[in-house]
Amino acid sequence: MLEDMNEKCAVVGIYGNKEASRLAYFSLHALQHRGQEAAGISSSNGTKLQTIKKRGLVMRVFDEKKLETLKGSSAIGHTRYSTAGDDSILDAQPVFARYDLGEMAIVHNGNLTNAEEIRNRLIDKGAIFQTFMDTENLIHLIAKSEKRKLLDRIIDAVQRIEGAFSLVFLSRTKMFAMRDRHGFRPLSLGKIPSGGYIVASETCAFDLVGAEFIRDVEPGELLIFDEDKEPESVKVFEPTPKHCIFEYVYFARPDSRVFGQSVYQTRKNMGMELARIKPVEADMVIPVPDGGVPAAIGYAQESGIPYEMGIMRNHYIGRTFIEPTQEMRDLKVKMKLSPMTDIIKGKRVIVVDDSIVRGTTSKRIVRMLKEAGASEVHMRVSSPPTTDPCFYGVDTPNKDKLIAANMSQDDICKFIEADSLAYLDEASLLRSANAKEENYCTACFTGKYIV
Ligand code: AMP
Repeated sequence: MLEDMNEKCAVVGIYGNKEASRLAYFSLHALQHRGQEAAGISSSNGTKLQTIKKRGLVMRVFDEKKLETLKGSSAIGHTRYSTAGDDSILDAQPVFARYDLGEMAIVHNGNLTNAEEIRNRLIDKGAIFQTFMDTENLIHLIAKSEKRKLLDRIIDAVQRIEGAFSLVFLSRTKMFAMRDRHGFRPLSLGKIPSGGYIVASETCAFDLVGAEFIRDVEPGELLIFDEDKEPESVKVFEPTPKHCIFEYVYFARPDSRVFGQSVYQTRKNMGMELARIKPVEADMVIPVPDGGVPAAIGYAQESGIPYEMGIMRNHYIGRTFIEPTQEMRDLKVKMKLSPMTDIIKGKRVIVVDDSIVRGTTSKRIVRMLKEAGASEVHMRVSSPPTTDPCFYGVDTPNKDKLIAANMSQDDICKFIEADSLAYLDEASLLRSANAKEENYCTACFTGKYIV
């Protein structure tokens, strides 16, 4: 597998608005939770593409002067998250290239499962790669395609790739948005009142720039944005939806609608289901902030046990400078979360989190709550045990690091030193999301892979 994957990333595209790069910039702020490693924007003024990208948060990458240089009425943007691979600026997006038809830039969220195979084939034929990103494959496939028009070349290229992709392409005069046939990662279309269109990974970006949600880009659909025209739709693949259930569990922002449903409501439903199937007597329900908040609210409402803010989160601890080793992760949890001692002392506490991956966070939190004087700590998790790694874009570690793949629930409970531990089951999770099992990928909980 390639070292780098465009995992928990965000993409945005703005077409037909004279403030395109500024709108892309604001959208990236709303999408910052999907990636904090690097950010970038490419814009086109109709004759030339301009790209700025850099490591760091959106706020650090751009300023007024830089945005001034990104001229034109179309722009695409990206925030990148990656735990492995090269940290160099080369692995930030958009990926820009000059080729025989002119200039293009691409942003990508997802993970191509046949990336290595394609890359090796291209290298055998003499291609030179500058980055570890699977997205670079697309540049080569488009540049080498024998089709004459860019649209046909894009279709040609995406038919050769497999896996998860929500893509936005920018040429000098057009923009294209494409979602893989399974619609693993979200991608939505909106209209901007001051003119033009927006596509973005999550609808929270629309709210920030005042855009109106039109619809999701369909799985397998390619949208073409051209001057003074409505977006044109091409069905490249027959849609076979397999949306990522983990978007609802952890990844998307609660104020977004993804896969046609409110993320907040879905998470709250998960908490309510959890309270119904895994009740326990206690004095209060507290969330692990921020991920566990909506589910904890749901759990509290359903159980009638008071909701309290028992843990404070320090919002100024970024992930940018903290390397993903086990030691540093332990320290990060300590820096990020602290107990509200006055509230917790002597109390029986139900603590709700969205997921347990390695178990590090839960162990630390239970210990922290006990040290703060909690008389009992009951861990409730608003998703099923994470037992299998993800190959389609969510950054889960290898199976040997997934605690639920290696320990029974009783042993996990002992390991995290909780008085009780309970997870949501798959059926309740799907019910919370109003989701049909056949339309969702639940591989991280079931090991049932699609591609
Ligand atoms: P762990 O300490 O490895 O068990 O991580 C569990 C915590 O990480 C939970 O609080 C989750 O909200 C959060 N989490 C779950 N999935 C991810 C992910 N893919 N990337 C970063 N954090 C995650």
